[in-house]
Amino acid sequence: MTSKAGKKPFRRETLLYHQLDNDVVRCNTCSHQCTILKDTLGLCKTKRNEKGILYSLNCGMVSSYSVNPIEKKPLFHYYPGSYALTIGSISCNFDCPWCQNWSISKTNPAQVLKPVFTPPEEIVQKINSDSRITGISVSFNEPTLSLEYAIDIFNLLNSEIYKMFVTNGYMTQQALGLLIESGLTGMSVTIKGDESTVKKYCKADVNKVWENIHNANNQEVHVEIICLIIPTVNDNHQFYKEVTNKILSINENIPLHFTRFFPDYQFTHVEPTPIDTLEKAHAIAEQMGLNYVYLGNIYGHPLENTYCHQCNILLIKRTGYQISFFIDLELRKCPNCGEEIPIKC
Ligand code: SF4
Ligand code: SF4
Repeated sequence: MTSKAGKKPFRRETLLYHQLDNDVVRCNTCSHQCTILKDTLGLCKTKRNEKGILYSLNCGMVSSYSVNPIEKKPLFHYYPGSYALTIGSISCNFDCPWCQNWSISKTNPAQVLKPVFTPPEEIVQKINSDSRITGISVSFNEPTLSLEYAIDIFNLLNSEIYKMFVTNGYMTQQALGLLIESGLTGMSVTIKGDESTVKKYCKADVNKVWENIHNANNQEVHVEIICLIIPTVNDNHQFYKEVTNKILSINENIPLHFTRFFPDYQFTHVEPTPIDTLEKAHAIAEQMGLNYVYLGNIYGHPLENTYCHQCNILLIKRTGYQISFFIDLELRKCPNCGEEIPIKC
């Protein structure tokens, strides 16, 4: 079913925008809410104003597929041990200089020489024909920019298939609402830093991301928070405390992942995060009262495991993507002390 681009199959009227005077439009897909003049593109270059109509230009422009363990997202309390078909497109609404997916996130639709259109039905067929797959993850670049395409796929999938985003969390509340209506039940959200760091590097307002986390949690979407700790950018105690306090004000059971940075893109001059820096961040968040704090990108580290937050017994052991369970996931209770363990499955 995959087809070569014919009559602009990637172009589709954007779901969320409104018209201003003189054929100018405002895009309401993400919180940048770009004002876009006639015949010009929004900041992410996936939205174009043509005579006062805003079009998405990357619908069905899939840059890659893979079948991945859910732990790779990383989500540790959401269908642990399962596999999701992971799809990505191109472009991003942030410009992080450390981006590990820069080859697709820094590419825009006009730069793709031979785009291949993948209809939503083809994604659904891939999922239904592989018995390992129990979910879909929209990931790699920023999935919010594929809002229309993701919604089409979600609406075609049955409710047994979980639907999740790996995101910077910068969608508008309207976009988040549409996704939840279409079946989104999980999000891995990256917090890049405190307010000034996110403003400096991503030209964005991190408070909007926290609002989305709050709203998603209130609407029973499973959320886990990822902080990639980058030396000289956000490796400070004040940030670890701020993130922890924000999560505590929403839900003490939201898992927090401090993950290790490795040099990439424009940050090849920065050393990988020292492991003791991450361990210190973990200790701070745990001492402040968060129930589930993890480290990531450190193969075999014991702080990638899940322990009962009451009695500290080992519940899930992770070595890379090898998972061993010491808990009955159906019961979701600690086998030692009986504490309820918040795991969605
Ligand atoms: S999706 Fe965001 S960055 Fe892209 S045009 Fe719309 S508001 Fe701007
Ligand atoms: S938000 Fe993610 S995909 Fe986008 S530039 Fe930043 S790291 Fe890359």
